[in-house]
Amino acid sequence: MYTLHTGHVVTPLTGVDDLLDLPGGGVVVDRSDGTVEAVGKASDLRKAYPDATVADHGDRLIVPGFVDCHVHYPQLGMIASPGEELLDWLDRYTFPAEARFADEAWAQTRARLFTDQLIAHGVTTACVFSTVHKGSADALFRAAHDRNLRIITGKTCMDRNAPDELLDTPDSAVADSLDLLERWHGVGRLEYAVSPRFAPTSSDAQLRALGELAAAHPDVVIQTHLAENLGECRWVAELFPDAADYTDVYDAAGLVRRRAVFGHAVHLSDRETGRLAEAHASLAHCPTSNSFLGSGLFPLHDTAFAGGDDLRIGLGSDVGAGTSLSPLTTAGEAYKVSRLLGSPLSVAELLRLSTLGGAEALGVADSVGSLEVGKDADLVVLDPASSPVLEQRAEQCTTTAELLFALMILGDDRAVSAVAVAGDTVDRAA
Ligand SMILES: [Zn+2]
Repeated sequence: MYTLHTGHVVTPLTGVDDLLDLPGGGVVVDRSDGTVEAVGKASDLRKAYPDATVADHGDRLIVPGFVDCHVHYPQLGMIASPGEELLDWLDRYTFPAEARFADEAWAQTRARLFTDQLIAHGVTTACVFSTVHKGSADALFRAAHDRNLRIITGKTCMDRNAPDELLDTPDSAVADSLDLLERWHGVGRLEYAVSPRFAPTSSDAQLRALGELAAAHPDVVIQTHLAENLGECRWVAELFPDAADYTDVYDAAGLVRRRAVFGHAVHLSDRETGRLAEAHASLAHCPTSNSFLGSGLFPLHDTAFAGGDDLRIGLGSDVGAGTSLSPLTTAGEAYKVSRLLGSPLSVAELLRLSTLGGAEALGVADSVGSLEVGKDADLVVLDPASSPVLEQRAEQCTTTAELLFALMILGDDRAVSAVAVAGDTVDRAA
């Protein structure tokens, strides 16, 4: 019934700034309910759980399953498409890729590939955009349920400024969202997210209809994009001349609240940051995407300071504008962005953003984000010897922080040697 994973345990802890850093540590997983039973010294846990199946990971790192707060599963096929800013990039690459998801068989194939790749990259919780097609969200829910991943998703809603084949209406967006919500929200580890793509592709009528839907279901997530790119911000000001600012467009529609997760938020005014904090909303910082599309540098420390504890911030890969599904790569890029801004993130901050911070941003920190007793047993084993350059660097690291940092700068999915998803181990070492 129990599996004891032994290795070098590193995890953030709820309510504590410092990481738990436990070489020679262990995590006991209760396979009967998929939760963490105990965390401590491996030698103590071997005595306390003599009948446990032991998975000895040597001196590899055992960290919590990673949390991706913002990613588009239909865009995996056009990751690394070059040379355009956001609005051109959407027209040229994204919309044609998303149009293919009208085909449900295609959606199912891509959903299986995407969820397998999440696990391969150590991601066990994610907030994900589908396409406008109800079948695309259905396919992702099914694939995630089969793998027992903690996935929050919903049908993307857009009723203007996109190709006709990708448009819904205010009424059909609500009807399709509600149907999916009723069938999937709360099933296993799945949750629904009301998902207007962003203000330029939703009419005010659609945003308000989705706000009413969200008001009727106060426990669901809301996800959208906010202030990613300056051209987009100017367009929103033209489309919504009565709004005080971009955030106010969503606020007026009832879409700014706790568990509303706004992707990017690179170009916010002080008023917007204050209002988002007041509403206990969340932000997803997507550094590889922001760099790739030239959208800007998200001032994480400034925003976190202005928002205080009421404004939660996690990391998002934002694939396909983002360039990697790997939370290690995303954390490494977040470091570089913070360095360019002159306010570098620490290794402890980066690991927290990738795990517990993201879980807090999504409102699921009671269940995931850290290796603590009673939480879902989502864990990732990281192998610092997974590539020759990383291995020789790791051999010269003298602290856990240096080792984790090297993994973030040099590591990717090759560094993920095993993953436990709600206690079930997926061995990657073969
Ligand atoms: Zn996005």
